[in-house]
Order: sequence, then structure tokens, then C-alpha cells
Amino acid sequence: MLDRIAHYKSLCAELGLPDVPKSHVCGKFVSGDGAVIALEDPYSRTVLAEYSDCGAEIANQACAASDAAQKVWMADFTAAGRGIVMQKIASLVEGRQEPLAQVEAVVSGKPIRDCQVEVAKVAEMFRYYAGYTDKLHGEVIPVPSGHLNYTIREPLGVIFQITPWNAPMFTAGWQIAPAMACGNGVVLKPSELTPVTSIALAAICEEAGAPKGLVNVLAGLGPTAGEAAIAHEATRKVVFVGSPTTGRIVATSAGKALKPVVLELGGKSANIVFEDADLEAACKGAQAAIFATAGQSCVAGSRLLVQESIKDQFVKMVADGMGQLTVGDPLDERTEIGPISNRRQFDHVTAMVDEAAKDGAKVLTGDRTMGDALIVPPTILTDLPSEANAAQAEIFGPVVTALSFEDEADAVRIANGTDFGLAGAVWTNNVSLAHRMAANVRAGTFWVNGYKAIHVSTPFGGSRLSGFGRSSGMDVLMEYTEPKSVWVETAEVPRVAFGYAPSV
Ligand code: NAD
Repeated sequence: MLDRIAHYKSLCAELGLPDVPKSHVCGKFVSGDGAVIALEDPYSRTVLAEYSDCGAEIANQACAASDAAQKVWMADFTAAGRGIVMQKIASLVEGRQEPLAQVEAVVSGKPIRDCQVEVAKVAEMFRYYAGYTDKLHGEVIPVPSGHLNYTIREPLGVIFQITPWNAPMFTAGWQIAPAMACGNGVVLKPSELTPVTSIALAAICEEAGAPKGLVNVLAGLGPTAGEAAIAHEATRKVVFVGSPTTGRIVATSAGKALKPVVLELGGKSANIVFEDADLEAACKGAQAAIFATAGQSCVAGSRLLVQESIKDQFVKMVADGMGQLTVGDPLDERTEIGPISNRRQFDHVTAMVDEAAKDGAKVLTGDRTMGDALIVPPTILTDLPSEANAAQAEIFGPVVTALSFEDEADAVRIANGTDFGLAGAVWTNNVSLAHRMAANVRAGTFWVNGYKAIHVSTPFGGSRLSGFGRSSGMDVLMEYTEPKSVWVETAEVPRVAFGYAPSV
């Protein structure tokens, strides 16, 4: 096997990054002095580097730097000029696609083929929102009093963004690009387990011409750096992507400071197969929905709902197909399923499978062992009631719970029978049924005869335990700006007097 530490260090050197992760604050790499955090490659189980939590003080410096830079971003750049910087960021990301993808694969364990696509998508996000910088305008509203009333869409100021470990650079780009396009500064805290590509992105933003400190990345922990950045007076909004448990903590801290929050949380999405579907296509779709990226995807199709009449046949098709998937080294171009990204998550996934077996599930799976690598092979759990914990809680691994339903009403009832509301899909050749399912399944994103298509141009988000607010599409522009209403007196004699209400 390739010397992972040497490979990791050479990639950092190629990207101009320190190989011991440091925060990127106001254009500089800064070391923390808090608790020691290890970056472990989950495939070779090598510790690639150890670094210290940046802590509250560096978080405070980042918020202050972003506040100052945001004012420069709005005052010294034209709207189109901001777009030009963002186009340049996209080009720099494209030019470094391979080392960025490689370092993501080594640190997170995600297969290289997925990392390459995700890095390319980050460039696409910056290009997409670059196009909005000079198109964010308000409107003139025909108020009844005859005043001239117009609105301006203003940036909020500093946005604090918190991201998880499952798609580090993709999620950083997904949040930073629209925030910048709307004229905001950003402080981003990636997962302490996968900070490297987010730090690289902050450095790229500055290299492309963004003011120093406009985009800062904290290499550190939630309870120290994260809580300080939420509380900092310059922070105007908190955007959190992660688990419902941490989302509650973050929303509580933000609520205490009366700061608005967007929460992008987990899911337990239903992938629903009717008996009239193209079963070959549905089978491939079901496998990609849950086994791609080892199921570590918020929209994973983790509940497979199959119509009773075809259940045994269809589950067998999925089980037979999963044996053909290539599981192994994330740096191998052929690998379709890599390891679970970290030890804590591996323990969670394996404990959930063991618990399901104790609850009476039949477990269809392959051999779990592959040296020390944190591999969980594709797994199907059958014979569980839809109320069982494995059918209700997020496992976030390559483990699907197969359930059966009688008819359309039963499918909708089971699909909506969890606390989540993130995504879902239906497979059928009946177009009317497909639209009824799209209308009735509770989900922020729904697919018909497909799974997992998402794009920066379309809104993304969930409800209930899956969170609230939207990332991406035009809807996110409303999250990252607020309207100001301006009233201009047009009467010859100004209508200002006690008891006068112009708009009534
Ligand atoms: P997590 O909730 O454990 O951590 C997410 C982030 O929160 C990390 O950066 C962590 O350091 C930070 N954090 C922890 N405590 C904090 C605190 N007190 N203050 C501020 N920040 C704090 O989640 P995870 O295990 O990294 O990621 C997996 C979860 O993310 C899954 O539930 C998955 O569904 C979800 N997810 C959701 C989406 C989406 O868009 N809906 C996308 C990807 C992942």
C-alpha cells in the first residue's frame, strides 16, 4: 500500500497547505493550543497528523476579521467585480481538482471517484453564484399613499457555517459560494476530523482576490471554537449542517443570542418501489441510494419500501447485486464503497446492525473484515417492523432496512412514519401515482424513477428532524440577504404629522 503519510504530506505541499492543519484567519495559517485532535486515514488507520483545537480566541479573531473584510467586499468591489473573483475561485478549484480530491479521499476515506466529482461540483457552485452577484436587486412596490417605496437586498454581515465530515469540501462550497455572492463574510468550522479541503478553499478564495479575512476556516472543536463563533457579536446568522443532536445544541446557543439559524440535518429517506416499476432500474437505483459513499449521505435511501407482491424477488435482486460492488481502498479508482469515515461512526453503524439482529432482523451482508480498515460491507436488514429502531433512526452507513407495503396508502403511511423529512423516491411506470406520491410523501427533495440527483440550481433542505431553511437554488439568496424597505416622500408638502399613517 502507498505510504499514506508521505502521500498526504506531498498533497498538502502541492496545495500550499501546512500538513499539520491550521485555521485560516485573515489570510494567515494560525495554530491553536487547545486539545489535540488526530486526523486518521480510516482505510490504512494511519494517523496522518495531529493538531491542536484553535479554541475560542482564534474563533473570535476570525469573526472580527470577517466583519472588517465584509465591509471591504461591499465597498471596494462592484457587484460584477465580486462575480469575477468568484469565477476565479472556480478556475483555481478546477486547476487543483486532483490534489484536492486525493487529499479528501485520504483524510475522509471517501472513494476517489466521488471526491473528484465533488471537487468539480464546488467549482460549479462558485460559477453558478458568481452569476447572481450583479442580479440581486430589490423591487418598487406600488404603496397606496403614492410614496416611492423600494426595497434593497442587503447582506447580513458575518455568517457562521458549521459542516460535518461526510462531504467536507462539497458542503463548504455549497455554503460559502451563496453567502459570498450575497455580499457576506464567512467563518466556517468544518468537522475537526476532515478540515483540510475547507482550509484549502479559504486560501483559494484569498488567492483569487477576495479580501483577506472574508472567508475564514477554523480548525477546531464545536464546544470551544464553535460556541465562541456563534456568540460573537459580529455573527449575524448560523448555518449548521450535521446531526439533529448537535443541531439542537447549536440552535439553542444561537437562540439565546437571538440569531437566526438554518439547520440541514439528517434523514431516514424512503425509497419506494411499486410492483409495476422497471425492477432492473429500481434495483440499481436502490443500491446507489444507500451503498454509494458507504451510506454516509444525508439523503441516503436508508428505508427500502417494496410492494408486498414483489418484496422477496426485489430484495434478492438488491442482495445479489450488492455482492458485485467493489469495496476497498478509497484511493483505488475502481472502488465504489470505501470505509466508514471515522471510528466513532463505525462503532455506531456496527452497533445499530447488532441491535437490529437482536430485535429479530435477518441480516444479509458480506464479510466485515478487511485488515484494520473501518469497512462495513453493504447490508440489508429484513423482517423488521417499521417501528423498529433500525427502521427509524439514522444509521449513516451502507445499511438499508427493507420494509413491505400493501398499497399506495400504506406506502405513504410508512414513508411518513418517521420524525424526518429530507428526501424520498418512488419507482413506478404509473405517472399519476408518481405525482401523488411526490405530493404526499413528506420530503424536501423527491425523485421519480431515480435517486440522489441534486444540483446547486435547485433548493435543498428538510423539515422536522431534518431541519429547516434551504441551501442552494435561488431560495438560499433569501437566507443570505435581508430586504430593506425605503420610503421616499413624493408629495410637494411632506405628509408628516401626528396621527398620519401613510400606508393605511
Ligand atoms: P455532528 O452533528 O456530530 O457534527 C457536525 C458539526 O458540528 C461538526 O463540525 C462538529 O464539530 C460541530 N459541532 C459539534 N458540537 C458543536 C457545538 N456545540 N457548537 C458548534 N458546532 C458543534 O455531525 P457529523 O457526525 O459530523 O455528520 C453527520 C450528520 O450530518 C448526519 O446526521 C447527516 O445526516 C448530517 N448531514 C446533513 C446534511 C444535510 O444537508 N441535511 C448533509 C450532510 C450531513
